[in-house]
Amino acid sequence: MKKIGIFPGSFDPFTIGHESIVRRSLPLFDELIISIGFNSAKQGYFPLEKRKAWIEDIFANEPKITVDTYEGLTVNYCERKKANYILRGLRTAADFEYERAIAQMNRMLVHGIETIFLLTFPEHSPISSTIVREILRHGGDASQFVPKQINFS
Ligand code: ADP
Repeated sequence: MKKIGIFPGSFDPFTIGHESIVRRSLPLFDELIISIGFNSAKQGYFPLEKRKAWIEDIFANEPKITVDTYEGLTVNYCERKKANYILRGLRTAADFEYERAIAQMNRMLVHGIETIFLLTFPEHSPISSTIVREILRHGGDASQFVPKQINFS
């Protein structure tokens, strides 16, 4: 059976922390779908299509990767995509506590879904999309925190 993984997130915007998790996970999967979860009642900072185009550009030379968007429960989306694995990155103990509950409940919702956690590289652990957005809101330069394909100007 093909090993299909989903890397779900808001990716608003995608950071070098996300990129590192994706690249390190690739030997584990036959296919990886980077899936931008959205809520149609809530507007993101960057438009969904822009976030998707940036990620496609970053992984343009990586045949195992596709980029998609979805609304609703991640486990239902995994079933639609026939994916058995959810990939998540862990930066801190707070990430762990939050992710543990979600992963355990996801397994109760859909039997057979496994969440795979990769620990972030130490140099990426402080990087978050939230702080990148905060820097941009105040006119700062956040380019060192995102892949070079992302150009905010
Ligand atoms: P969500 O809104 O689902 O938390 P994010 O886009 O913030 O979506 O993050 C998606 C995934 O990437 C999560 O598993 C998160 O822990 C992980 N992640 C976020 N920032 C980093 C980072 N700097 N290094 C490694 N993993 C990260």
